[in-house]
Amino acid sequence: MRDRGARLPLEGDAVDMNLRLELAQLTSALSTGILQRVFHRPAANFPGKIGLHLDPRLISDLRARIREGTVVVVGTNGKTTVTNLLADAFQAGGKDVVCNRTGANLDSGIASALLHSKEADWGVFESDELWLAKILPQLQPEFVVLLNLFRDQLDRVGEIDRTQAAIAEALTSSPATTLVYNVDDPLCHAIAIRVANESIPFGVGESLGLPQNAVSDTNMCQQCDSIMEYDWRQYGQIGSYHCPNCGFRREDPLISANDVSLSPQGTDFSLSRGERCTRMHIPFSETYMLYNALAVFAAADCCGLSPSHADSAVQSFNPQNGRLQRYGIGGRPILLSLAKNPTGFNQSLRIVQSDPEAKAVAFFINDKEADGHDISWLWDVDFQELSAIDGLFVFAGGIRRNDLQVRLKYAGVNAPLVEGAYDFLAKAGAAVQNGNYYLFANYTALPDVKAELDAMNRFPEPRPFDNESESELPSRARSTDQRLVIMHLYPDLLNLYGDGGNVTVLAERARRRGLAVEVVRVVHGQVADLSEADIVFLGGGPDREQRLASRGLLGQAEAIRDYVEDDGVLLAICGGYQILGREWLLGEECVPGLDILDTTTGRAEGGSRNRLVDNIALDSPLANTPVVGYENHAGRTFLGSECKPFGVVMGKHGKGNNDDDGTDGALYRNVVGTYLHGPLLAKNPEVADFLIQQALARRAAKEGRTAPTLAPLDDRIEQAANAFMREKLGLH
Ligand code: GLN
Repeated sequence: MRDRGARLPLEGDAVDMNLRLELAQLTSALSTGILQRVFHRPAANFPGKIGLHLDPRLISDLRARIREGTVVVVGTNGKTTVTNLLADAFQAGGKDVVCNRTGANLDSGIASALLHSKEADWGVFESDELWLAKILPQLQPEFVVLLNLFRDQLDRVGEIDRTQAAIAEALTSSPATTLVYNVDDPLCHAIAIRVANESIPFGVGESLGLPQNAVSDTNMCQQCDSIMEYDWRQYGQIGSYHCPNCGFRREDPLISANDVSLSPQGTDFSLSRGERCTRMHIPFSETYMLYNALAVFAAADCCGLSPSHADSAVQSFNPQNGRLQRYGIGGRPILLSLAKNPTGFNQSLRIVQSDPEAKAVAFFINDKEADGHDISWLWDVDFQELSAIDGLFVFAGGIRRNDLQVRLKYAGVNAPLVEGAYDFLAKAGAAVQNGNYYLFANYTALPDVKAELDAMNRFPEPRPFDNESESELPSRARSTDQRLVIMHLYPDLLNLYGDGGNVTVLAERARRRGLAVEVVRVVHGQVADLSEADIVFLGGGPDREQRLASRGLLGQAEAIRDYVEDDGVLLAICGGYQILGREWLLGEECVPGLDILDTTTGRAEGGSRNRLVDNIALDSPLANTPVVGYENHAGRTFLGSECKPFGVVMGKHGKGNNDDDGTDGALYRNVVGTYLHGPLLAKNPEVADFLIQQALARRAAKEGRTAPTLAPLDDRIEQAANAFMREKLGLH
């Protein structure tokens, strides 16, 4: 396929370049030897890193080693699996392959893989989405396979439109690359439309009839300011979509899976391309594995590999890297899998749900650099589905286990803390004797959990596991006839950082006091009847969605203003907070706000990329304990004289409203506006109860009653999560 030996034109002196290349290769061989032999490390990154330092065009120089062609796999979920399967498929077809199999997916990982190989027929590499723009100009691959795009590590990666732009830019820098992409994902389809590269869509041709998750990564059209309509959704935003306004729609895939039947034994489907159609069986029942397998079949087909080779790779897939990895320890079936974002987690929950046996599950959440420091997204996971499963035991582990425990508590799940895999098996062992054990861990939590399981696996007879007593979930008080109506405005547009969790927390804390709670979701296009509302909630969102939401709400501004002037309780986070002000700036554009708060929001130099992103704690008049959360915003908000700040920033972390004032948020009548995600109320129960109390007082005053006082709740779990963050921020 490839013109062998083709190399991008070199700048400068060719002799010098050859020297650099040789030096890079020599240093790599040396460092690889030391890392592998002395330190027993895989040397998946370091040799490439110094190699690139010595020869910045190293990848371009080494690509001549690949004889036939190169495929690069990108996408939020499934990259490592698809890359490994595709490499296996090439090998099954008798090809020599160079591949970054362990998932080292920056330029250093790809350079290391190239440095470690001699010559190969095919290169198969996974690439980080944002690094693609660095890698593609040098690698000029034949194919890029784009799997999906979901919200993931928003503090590190940014919002999804940034990822889309990076991928489009990368493809533009490699014009001869063909894009093989998942057309069921509107976010991927939009990239294919945006670039001039040839593209080949793949997709599933029918609805799989699966239950839907609460949060989807795009409801808004990718081409215009409208809400898309769906004929069906498989999960997340993946499905068959069209825009009623501009005609943006899912196209028919060139390579498709049809007549799909999912069963506990696996998935059967017809794989078609044009006239060709083959009936396939894959030994996986998870929908996301159907999409991963389809990506492998599509890519293999584009590369001229026979489907039988791709099939044999999929059939014999036996991951040893903690992705759907199975163990049998002390006779117990154990499944370990990576899950690192809401969609990955929701898919993992489906695995647990589909298991009819007794079972225990542990989640491990870390917040290191590679995970993203912000764990607000835990509130975008539909953990409440677990509460409906009988005989399930759930445990919380990892650095942020306290936060996880709070999240699970508000999902109706009592989750004792565990130190690691052994501790989990010990605690779960007594509760679930003949059943299955599941461990789901995010990025940096996975290696430790896996290492513990690997170690236990080496000893056939584990020490007997012992059990510990468990605490009980707090019960709800008997329902009284007192009502509380919570109105969630535009959850379809403003739902980015787990903010919907605030509604869950308010509802649950009110129910525990015996109140009859009604949550009303008012989506874009609907008009809120605020005469019914006790608490109104507005979340945060990406710029495009926020602009559409702002325009929609402008039509209801008068009603919202009247509600606020009548002391209605309103909590607004980040994007929602900005909208309440006089105006807010989006790039150069000045968007009129609802003019409810005396605030204005601008942008700093650098626009939406210049963001305030950090953990943050506030000294707020609404709480005795510091209010903790996470901020991630480009907007800089300034308060006028009519409102007071929600809190003063404590310690060295976080900025709040803007770079200079040292305050966050705004208080006006019963309105609380703030930049704190987290979600805010999960770890700051005093603020939650303040809002409920104000709402009850208002309703009581209207009905001529005295306001009831809220009974205290057992908030030890919430306080532990709050204390963890205070400690982390050095506040005592
Ligand atoms: N889009 C807005 C900003 O960047 C709000 C972001 C958010 O809600 N997190 O300022």
